[in-house]
Amino acid sequence: MNMKLSRTLSTLLDDPRLFRQYAYVDGKWTHGDGGREEAVIDPATGEVIGHIPWLEADQIRGAVDAAEAAFVHWRALRADERCERLLAWYDLLQANREDLATLMTLEQGKPLPDARGEVEYGASFVRWFAEEGKRTFGETIPSHIPNAALGTIKEPVGIAALITPWNFPLAMITRKAAAAMAAGCPVIVKPAGETPFSALALAELAERAGIPAGVFNVVLGEPAEVSKILCFDDRVKALSFTGSTRVGRLLLEQSANTVKRVSLELGGNAPFIVGPDMDPKEAAFAAVSAKFQTAGQDCLAADRILVHESIHDEFVAHFAERMAALTVGNGLESEIDLGPLIHAQAVEKAAAIVDDALAKGATLVAGDQRQAPGPNFFMPTLLTGVTHDMKIWHEESFAPVAGITAYADDDQVIEMANDTEYGLAAYIYTHDIRRIWKIMRALEFGMVSVNSVKMTGPPVPFGGVKHSGLGREGGITGIDEYLETKYYCLGALGSVSGS
Ligand code: NAD
Repeated sequence: MNMKLSRTLSTLLDDPRLFRQYAYVDGKWTHGDGGREEAVIDPATGEVIGHIPWLEADQIRGAVDAAEAAFVHWRALRADERCERLLAWYDLLQANREDLATLMTLEQGKPLPDARGEVEYGASFVRWFAEEGKRTFGETIPSHIPNAALGTIKEPVGIAALITPWNFPLAMITRKAAAAMAAGCPVIVKPAGETPFSALALAELAERAGIPAGVFNVVLGEPAEVSKILCFDDRVKALSFTGSTRVGRLLLEQSANTVKRVSLELGGNAPFIVGPDMDPKEAAFAAVSAKFQTAGQDCLAADRILVHESIHDEFVAHFAERMAALTVGNGLESEIDLGPLIHAQAVEKAAAIVDDALAKGATLVAGDQRQAPGPNFFMPTLLTGVTHDMKIWHEESFAPVAGITAYADDDQVIEMANDTEYGLAAYIYTHDIRRIWKIMRALEFGMVSVNSVKMTGPPVPFGGVKHSGLGREGGITGIDEYLETKYYCLGALGSVSGS
């Protein structure tokens, strides 16, 4: 490990034992047998934060062995016993919030207040599912068979492999793992190589919370290699993935042979629709907030801002004014709104998306990259006159690049909004209830937020349609991704009066 940063970390963290540079399998901190390792970089400074081992194929299969053994005991616990352990984990996440946020900012780049918010958000799923695990009710079915009792019980599906992205290094794990573990399933987490330390800190706290060995494992390695082993292993019964649509498709294909339960939370390309009745300033400020969180590296980012032509120019002026006030810098410093992008390729992609739009006739209102405070930073950029033929219309920019388009009427904006392969989230800003209802029903998206930027949290079913994914996370249905329904028929019971 880089000695300079090691020293920095020990001063930055109250509890340096939360910083682990090993995989975590079967309750043990593990080196890679082959000696392969990968450096983890602070995107704000380019410095090496630490190293993680890449496990060999046998070690990945060893994690499945461990989970298989742990499943026997974990599923046999009563739901309230699993709840107690998950709540202990929740308490530890809360108690170590500051250290978890610091680690996250170091590896992901997001500003510390946002990282603290993600720890809260991630922990809230642990508490939610700890409780939901006690409510995995079956049903009693009125019998059509003489002298029989019919019903269902819910049983854990088995080992769940969880593959997660770098933009929300902690919450994308807990949203899956807490649901699976509450249902009685052991998990094998494969975090993104860019942001493994949040996952490893979660493992350290899971161990302290009394989660038994083999129930929460973190494997590290070459992504395609690890995923293939987990997808092809018949003992892994569920695969839950959050990440790009490209990789999601690949994993769905690889899971076909073993007919796994697959949940996919994939890319988004959210439209942000502003009606003619809106106050342009209020709507513009909301749009800035929906666009620039996590420096635009957010599946819910407002990627296509569609504004009624009657208020377009005013909206653009307010948007530009608000955007100009955003501060860009190292997320560990105070008063920073946007941290760096995750790596140099992300910056190149952002620049290419802007160049493509300008070459096809968009107007650059603001966004001077010469002001960027470092190589991985991208200054907030505003384009107007964005059209269907531009990359920014169809691709997730995953960057702080906002594109605004004017529209004439509700039918046109519905067509524009649905003109994408993605269907994760959409925003509508208007106070006209008939317009809200018409547009909300016509949008081909899994989540529609009206007059609110914030839409996520434990009680709601999070997920997309079209190429944005399969299944839902959170809410009362999130745990179903990890449960099987067993139907029973108890026959020859004799007649029971009143049945
Ligand atoms: P990614 O698809 O590149 O990586 C996601 C995970 O897959 C990582 O763990 C990565 O190591 C692994 N991976 C990469 N290549 C692989 C391969 N060939 N085979 C198997 N595994 C592989 O995505 P990312 O860049 O880390 O994250 C950004 C994407 O995640 C965006 O598309 C974003 O919209 C999406 N996302 C979706 C949600 C949601 O809830 N729908 C939430 C956050 C992020």
